[in-house]
Amino acid sequence: MKICRFNDNRLGVVEGDRIKDVTSVLDQLPAYRVPLPQFDPVIAELTRLRPLIQAAAAKATAVPLADVRLLPPVGNPGKIVAAPVNYRAHLDEVNLSAALHHGNQINEIHRAGLFLKATSSLIGVSDVVKLRFPDRRNDHEVELAVIIGKPASKVSKADALDVVAGYAIGLDMTLRGPEERSFRKSIDTYTVLGPWMITADELPDPTALDLRLTVNGELRQNANTRDLILSVADLIAFASSFYTLLPGDILLTGTPEGVGPVTPGDTMVASITSIGEVTVGVSS
Ligand code: MN
Repeated sequence: MKICRFNDNRLGVVEGDRIKDVTSVLDQLPAYRVPLPQFDPVIAELTRLRPLIQAAAAKATAVPLADVRLLPPVGNPGKIVAAPVNYRAHLDEVNLSAALHHGNQINEIHRAGLFLKATSSLIGVSDVVKLRFPDRRNDHEVELAVIIGKPASKVSKADALDVVAGYAIGLDMTLRGPEERSFRKSIDTYTVLGPWMITADELPDPTALDLRLTVNGELRQNANTRDLILSVADLIAFASSFYTLLPGDILLTGTPEGVGPVTPGDTMVASITSIGEVTVGVSS
């Protein structure tokens, strides 16, 4: 199932080039009180809601996908966890370019660990990436994004994929410079997620997915998740060895080689096998 959020926080099921509006199902969520949960309520309840979503979709009228504004498929992620330099060829290109590493020591992911991005950086694919410092270099990074479905602490690699709710296309936009990664990558609009979440049952094997990104039609990144240094399962085990992953947490699995700058007016098109394709603009 492809689940999306659209327009004024509506919930949808994507079928081909149309969306079935299943927002009525959200009435079945518990009434949360302060302090609000640190997880995403829709993702946390998805297993229970799924038959209700299917029933609602069967009765709903379809609206054209082209007519809606797509929001990020997770409304309230508690954490955005991201993997640095998780493709060998990208590690090599960063170490070879002062414009990329800025004198920072770039460690292998086993040594460097993971980092966090501010949840306030998250947008959907119908929004545009707004370059806050357009006089500095800003790069695209296409990544397979994993959406966590169940609480996970110290989960083994063998059990890791069982906690996945689904997958999406992620753009980990990056301001180049000497500051800490989490600071440079947490600018508003610098995490793009979409176009929807494909549920894990429809994408059982995330280890051989093509991912591509073009800028203004020029191919920049073209790789396959089989070349990840730490696989999706490795990353979930690694992250959950340090902290508990919660439903709705987003895991950006790292970008392959071919990162490059974007400037205002550019159009990025990113695609990942089985998930789909997104077109995202860049502005100042
Ligand atoms: Mn990245």
